Amino acid sequence: MPKYTCSVCVFCGSRPGTAPGYVAAAQETGRMLAANGWRLVYGAGDVGLMGEVARATQGAGGETFGVIPVHLLGMEVGKRDLSTFVVTETMHERKKVMYMNSDAFVVLPGGAGTLDELFEIVTWRQIGLHDKPVFVVNTEGYWDPLIAMFDAVVAGGFAAPSLRDFITPVADIPALRAALAAALPAPATT
Ligand code: AMP
Repeated sequence: MPKYTCSVCVFCGSRPGTAPGYVAAAQETGRMLAANGWRLVYGAGDVGLMGEVARATQGAGGETFGVIPVHLLGMEVGKRDLSTFVVTETMHERKKVMYMNSDAFVVLPGGAGTLDELFEIVTWRQIGLHDKPVFVVNTEGYWDPLIAMFDAVVAGGFAAPSLRDFITPVADIPALRAALAAALPAPATT
């Protein structure tokens, strides 16, 4: 019997950020995933918000699946005590393995790497490669400029209005939990 019903990929910063709310949201995300029987899929680092999410998931008894490219094992401190720890040759393989093993995506505050991961998933959605949901957790309004940029891209005529539907902003972790519960299949009852 698997210990999880679905897998949720979390993209977030390899740094903790400046507002205490970012670390708190990452920890709450980890606890929430474990409590709902959802496996954490992430970049296998033990630094910044990535480490916070993973440690919180583990601490609450949840399943963890991490994927890290070999050249980042030192820089991002590969977290080897995960339920599953995968080392890839390249960054592209890392993202592909995370994508293939996830049912939904969650974006917490983060930097350029987080934006790269978000945009790859959104552009794959835009060209019809998948229809997995993407939830953007707008902790302390961190992603307001990103959401405005999506609107600007549509207003500027560089994307169909459906671009906006490819991300779902949520205000906090309770809202994220509700959105994931609505989007993911319910656990079997028999
Ligand atoms: P950051 O948001 O910049 O702290 O990075 C978050 C995660 O994204 C880390 O696991 C980084 O290794 C990863 N990352 C950084 N740069 C890239 C990139 N060019 N492509 C894909 N992932 C990246």
